[in-house]
Amino acid sequence: MVFDLKRCIGCNACVVACKTENMLPEDTFFTRTFVAEIGSFPNVKRVYIPSLCNHCEDAPCERACPSGATYTRDDGIVMVDQEKCIGCSACAVACPYDNRTQFSKEKLERSYFGEGELASFEEPRTERWLAGTVSKCDFCSRRIDNGLLPACVGACPTEARIFGDLDDPDSAPNKVLRQRNGTPPLPEKNTRPKVFYVD
Ligand code: SF4
Ligand code: SF4
Repeated sequence: MVFDLKRCIGCNACVVACKTENMLPEDTFFTRTFVAEIGSFPNVKRVYIPSLCNHCEDAPCERACPSGATYTRDDGIVMVDQEKCIGCSACAVACPYDNRTQFSKEKLERSYFGEGELASFEEPRTERWLAGTVSKCDFCSRRIDNGLLPACVGACPTEARIFGDLDDPDSAPNKVLRQRNGTPPLPEKNTRPKVFYVD
């Protein structure tokens, strides 16, 4: 995936789409949009910086996982097998990008609407996610397997999120990366992210 920082307007449509698609509880995000202010008065500008799991080629989370729950699919997507996850959080500690989150039982069972039972559309959340496990963005692998784009990409009104196969020279992200220099997040960590920023 490529994030075009010139296009992101910080609307958070991606964040809402992700939370909806993944039925995420309160205070849990698989993608976020950070805000940075650059310069000093009067020459100041705001930059919006989208972020999600970078599906690192050399993923520290996968190396740290003692149960084999974290693995990489043949297409390069870094996944978590909930059935194998023992909730030790070693992956969360190893991720240099703070991109992992743990589902506590309390969090999964707490409604967005205060005390009381979950709303009907919140209920499937407790079946989708196992309490105690750690998870993260999987590029909406279920949507990809059905020929759809990740929810955040489909929701972005400015096409700031550009998704495609990095092994295909003609894919949309590769076309952008050929025209403009792409920078991975925290390159000094040597994790070889499959996410790049262009500005
Ligand atoms: S960004 Fe973090 S969670 Fe995602 S693959 Fe890299 S190390 Fe793992
Ligand atoms: S939906 Fe697109 S424009 Fe809006 S915050 Fe997300 S990446 Fe930026």
